Amino acid sequence: MHHFEYRNGELYAEDVPVRQLAREYGTPLYIYSSSTFAHHFKAFDSAFSSIPHCTCFSVKACSNVNILRLLGSLGAGMDIVSGGELHRALAAGIPPERIVYSGVGKKHAEIRQALEAGILMFNVESMQELERIASVAGEMHLVARISLRVNPDVDPKTHPYISTGLKKNKFGLDLEQSLKAYRRAQELDGIEPVGIDCHIGSQLTSIEPFIEALDRVMRFYETLKSEGINITYLDLGGGLGIPYHAEEPPHPVEYGRVVSERIKDSGLTLILEPGRVIAGNAGILVTEVVYTKDTPSKHFVIVDAAMNDLVRPSLYQSYHRIAEVQPKGRPERNVDVVGPICESGDFLAQDRDLPGVEQGELLALFSAGAYGFSMSSQYNSRLRAAEVLVEGSTARVIRRRETYADLTALEE
Ligand SMILES: *Cc1c(COP(=O)(O)O)cnc(C)c1O
Repeated sequence: MHHFEYRNGELYAEDVPVRQLAREYGTPLYIYSSSTFAHHFKAFDSAFSSIPHCTCFSVKACSNVNILRLLGSLGAGMDIVSGGELHRALAAGIPPERIVYSGVGKKHAEIRQALEAGILMFNVESMQELERIASVAGEMHLVARISLRVNPDVDPKTHPYISTGLKKNKFGLDLEQSLKAYRRAQELDGIEPVGIDCHIGSQLTSIEPFIEALDRVMRFYETLKSEGINITYLDLGGGLGIPYHAEEPPHPVEYGRVVSERIKDSGLTLILEPGRVIAGNAGILVTEVVYTKDTPSKHFVIVDAAMNDLVRPSLYQSYHRIAEVQPKGRPERNVDVVGPICESGDFLAQDRDLPGVEQGELLALFSAGAYGFSMSSQYNSRLRAAEVLVEGSTARVIRRRETYADLTALEE
């Protein structure tokens, strides 16, 4: 479900023609729909309404402070993975007691920053991290609330780069090590173990891996109880997929029902860390065709967006639907849609059947709201795109396009 629809033969973002936004703000341009964000957040959050829970949006999926503020106003907490993301969440006015901190490489200063802020908990991913958090908390005469991120060794059946819950992944601790870590956490002065955490991967399109992971984690929870380690939070991470193409991921309502049934009698408070399922279909990337080029083996559509703007196709071989902003009903041809970057890996689509588009026309890449702008870079000294947020018939720039002065600002 999203609010990017064709009306009178052209694409609209809510009630604003995309063509008009592209003319006003230039391309490449990220356009977000405020009501799509709200709809997705509410649909997800309400799927867990029968149990105590906090839905913590995964900041890395779409990190603009205006988006975080929008979600925060709907009651969202945040899942952060760096000091920078903590800064963004606090700048967006997110209450610290709704912030959880994940990630394998938290540095001393970042731990300090999070303790100062008073976040809900750290999701700890190694023994050394546990010791370090204890020592930083000790220095500050504070107690750090922690969860251990357990690695349930479940195959999420997604792209290897976004699988995180397998034994071979760098994330979390296996169940055996986790037990030792909880025992150690019990002994440490600066540490209060309050939760258990897992996140097995991203863009999951079936419910089974979630259930398998949950069942393993719940068995582990029983083990902890039998050892007298009493925790109150169960963090299930994120990972629910979205339909980019032909995928049919479980609906949040189904996910919510299955999870709620399993934990409702435990008394645990659930933490959820959805990213993609909230943001993915709430954003599009609009780009202009710069040239078309026919070679004996391929037809290329060269556009002004590139892998620095949207890296997912290059990095994960992922599919983004591409369509004309003003469809003209021309016959399709098989093309590669590529950017101007000097890398053969710079493509937005390969072997795609697209209507025969021409120079100067606009294309929309759908489902670009998650891991789109947030993964962008300045590679090839390209200016990062502007971001625009549409709400009904109004649009506002929530991040201006970078300028050449921005490019060199930190270098002189
Ligand atoms: C990336 C990430 C998420 C969000 O994943 P999605 O697939 O976008 O829902 C949640 N938790 C952790 C720890 C992550 O690294």
